[in-house]
Amino acid sequence: MNKAGWKAILRALWRTSMIGALALVSAQAATMRIDTSKSPALKTWADSMQPIAAEWYPRLANLMSSIEDRPLLDVSIRINPDFKGIAAASGPYIDISTDWITRHPEESRGAVIHELVHVVQAYPPGHAGWLTEGIADYFRYAIYESLPLREFPRPEKPQGYLDSYKVSAGFLFWLETGPAPGIVRQLNTALRLGQYQEALFTERTGRELKDLWSDYLTALRPLPNLPQEPRIWRHAKGSFEYQASGTWTEFENGKPVWNFIEVARTPQSIEVLDKSRNVRLRLASTMVQLVSKTGGSTLYTGEWSTASSTKQPAN
Ligand SMILES: [Zn+2]
Repeated sequence: MNKAGWKAILRALWRTSMIGALALVSAQAATMRIDTSKSPALKTWADSMQPIAAEWYPRLANLMSSIEDRPLLDVSIRINPDFKGIAAASGPYIDISTDWITRHPEESRGAVIHELVHVVQAYPPGHAGWLTEGIADYFRYAIYESLPLREFPRPEKPQGYLDSYKVSAGFLFWLETGPAPGIVRQLNTALRLGQYQEALFTERTGRELKDLWSDYLTALRPLPNLPQEPRIWRHAKGSFEYQASGTWTEFENGKPVWNFIEVARTPQSIEVLDKSRNVRLRLASTMVQLVSKTGGSTLYTGEWSTASSTKQPAN
């Protein structure tokens, strides 16, 4: 064999070893396939969905990761004309209805994100289904679709979080924004390990789950505007009263106990500060909240009222 022949062989060997190395690299990354063989009319939709799913699957896995996590799976999304329902995940397989995509091409992308969360979750069966669906919709709506907190549905009833899906998602989103940052990842880890207990909410916030739900409703309920001249805020055991010096005094059982200076005012609330204790409170119709760096928690429920000596303010 001549010199050029050897060179060609060496070049071929080098190329095959490079192909081998590349194959090894791609074998480590999960693949994302969308099967349109039974629904060829949706190939355009699938071609535009594939890069979104391929990008979001590892991102969701990172957002939900815990130290015990296994490598990502190769995911197959089957566009299925025989599928009853909208979409479902089982292991690394997602089925999504051909008819649903045809009728809701944009919403279907969010539905795929929801199912990809289920692929990552892989919870053992039998644990708090409202959280399984709530976490999936939290990532779909709050993270993927960037829906603002106020646009999540909030049914005015006790334990409304049990409504699951988008309702539970909004509740989790609210917990993340202040009362319990990081709780979604923590819940996900507990659920995956089969160790979830409702007490986790209490450990994180000092409040029971059912009370957190009513805190959420209260926090998001639009507040009535302040009276024209807010002077007294009353609750069952005491009051906050405006003093001639421009400060606020907290009374308990008719006796002055703490003094506050006013630090901020919005059309709905007044914030007052007790510098000596570093206690900052928000006075608003229906509640007084303790204001902290991570949000507000309700201390009292009550109302603005007028002193007997003053006229009812025109509101
Ligand atoms: Zn689901």
